[in-house]
Amino acid sequence: MRTPIAAGNWKMNLGPQEAEQFARTLRAQLDGLAGVDTVLFPPYIAIAPVHRAIAGSTLQLGAQNCADVASGAYTGEVSAPMIAELCRWVILGHSERRIYFGETDTFITRKALAALGAGLQPIVCIGESIEDREANLTERVITAHLQALMTEVPDDQIGRVTIAYEPYWAIGTGHTPNRQNVEDVVAIIRALVAERYGMAAGEAMRILYGGSVTSTTIQEFTGSPHIDGALIGGASLTADFVAIANAIAQSKTV
Ligand code: PEP
Repeated sequence: MRTPIAAGNWKMNLGPQEAEQFARTLRAQLDGLAGVDTVLFPPYIAIAPVHRAIAGSTLQLGAQNCADVASGAYTGEVSAPMIAELCRWVILGHSERRIYFGETDTFITRKALAALGAGLQPIVCIGESIEDREANLTERVITAHLQALMTEVPDDQIGRVTIAYEPYWAIGTGHTPNRQNVEDVVAIIRALVAERYGMAAGEAMRILYGGSVTSTTIQEFTGSPHIDGALIGGASLTADFVAIANAIAQSKTV
């Protein structure tokens, strides 16, 4: 049984003080919630205060990105081993990093290897643009993203990778695909992982949906045995995150 994940990507919101306060509020409402991995992803500068706020609770912590190298003269970068001192998770390949910062599949794969090498659990985001979707290229785009990753990630590490299917056109737009659309893509991902690493790895991989998830839209996906939770952006900055995490936790326990 795959434990679902409620992952809150705070993006470039909440500085150290606000983040610590918000994390304490979330802790009060979510600590001990069973049946779900609840993970907060603050901006780098707020990781330490959030770590303090959730220490000893069931809430987990991650970074929104990492460098592809461990240390050195890379001004402004933060490496995976540094993140691993305080976090268990890291988001990689978010569409905002691909679009605004030109991150390629090759670069994201190097980051994934760095993250795995440091003991982190990467959540690798993949998804298609609206143009790709309208041209029926979703499968091709998903396959290209995944193959770049799977060429490099060794067999004994793939179990620590989570995939987030996040169609670009659903992020922050209020538009979501329906459950069948997402399940179709999840099936493609599982088949590709199974082909490369074996059936057990395909079955074991946790695959999230992301894009305009709220406590209302999550209802479309929680009934699915194939979708293992969500990566949540905007709604993770509000009390709605508590309702979403509860909905995800309940979905796999009934
Ligand atoms: C995201 O940033 O990964 C995301 C899915 O954002 P939103 O929930 O705001 O669409």
